[in-house]
Amino acid sequence: MKVSGEWLGHPGTQGLCAALESKGQRALFVGGCVRNALLGEPVADVDLATDATPENVTNIAEKAGFKVVPTGFDHGTVTVIAAGKPHEVTTFRRDVETDGRRAVVAFSTDLAEDAARRDFTMNALYADRHGTVIDPLNGLPDLQARHVRFVGDAETRIREDYLRILRFFRFHARYGDQAKGPDAEGLAACAALSARLETISKERIGAEMRKLLSAPDPAPAVASMAAAGVLAHILPGADTRALAPLVHLEDGMSPRWLRRLAVLGGEDPGTALRLSRSETRDLAALREAIGTLHPAAALGWQLGADLGVDAILARAATFGTPPQPGWQAEVARGAAATFPVSAADLMPALQGEALGQRLKALEARWLASNLILSRDDLLKGA
Ligand code: ATP
Ligand code: MG
Repeated sequence: MKVSGEWLGHPGTQGLCAALESKGQRALFVGGCVRNALLGEPVADVDLATDATPENVTNIAEKAGFKVVPTGFDHGTVTVIAAGKPHEVTTFRRDVETDGRRAVVAFSTDLAEDAARRDFTMNALYADRHGTVIDPLNGLPDLQARHVRFVGDAETRIREDYLRILRFFRFHARYGDQAKGPDAEGLAACAALSARLETISKERIGAEMRKLLSAPDPAPAVASMAAAGVLAHILPGADTRALAPLVHLEDGMSPRWLRRLAVLGGEDPGTALRLSRSETRDLAALREAIGTLHPAAALGWQLGADLGVDAILARAATFGTPPQPGWQAEVARGAAATFPVSAADLMPALQGEALGQRLKALEARWLASNLILSRDDLLKGA
């Protein structure tokens, strides 16, 4: 079995692999790049695994004229920038100690050890620089069947790192066979251990949830998560009912995780997923918009183009009523509109608080007119 792709032929990538090999070291592609290339999906970043220590990788890469950034040196990772392209190069590792949250690792020269500590068989596929696939754990049949399966015993692997519960649903959403549903053994282990997610940092949970909700269709996986009791542990109060309708209404638009999160709700998603201030604010604005009857143009004006679209879709999904025809143009019209009256139009007759109140009243009239009334219309009425 061979993989190919522009990423593999990149001169920097080939140069880096050749440099490592010329010193007797192995240089193998691993993880997402091999998996996605085999599936014919776009390859985002290129991860390499090697039997060379981080120190050796640094020396070899620098001698070959590449820039090296020690991005995770102690954990075995350096980033090598070769011909303008960054490569994460990680030394083979094995776990020495795990506590469900972080692992103490040792460097290894054994590919089998490196494969055994990876999460899913489809993520433990390697390839050399000629594209020849190395499959130490028989991940290829699983990949072909779109079967996201833990490496080894699911429960044991989850106890090593509880974040793997969320990774299981994320990879299933992205690469799994949705008709078949998640791997039964994996799902049962996730359900049994779901409460332990509470020991994982909210940053890591938030990062995984963003990725999960950015999948083309996360709805079946999120429904499985809810049924397994996992969702309630990371996002208490969430309700999954509107997610599938939302994805349907999106009709292939590029996924926005915040929009998907908005229909899930939850008691305090900002804290639960450690969202940034602006994300929390946008989410709150969307939640509020779902509960209003404002037309598309008003939402576009209030929230801007992207959030305006999110609000219309999220509201339609929540209430099961499709948006009015032409809504997208209406959101765009609202986003591009400016309230036609300014303070100067009302001064000096009005000042201070009275001025503010009048402006507010005129804005309300303008909104009620669906952003149609002109400056003259509004001032005449004033
Ligand atoms: P993506 O396209 O989403 O980046 P990826 O497979 O590259 O997919 P990463 O999260 O970048 O996913 O991880 C890279 C590889 O490292 C995985 O394919 C897997 O082999 C391994 N890995 C990452 N996180 C874990 C984990 N928590 N437990 C075990 N293995 C992991
Ligand atoms: Mg990756």
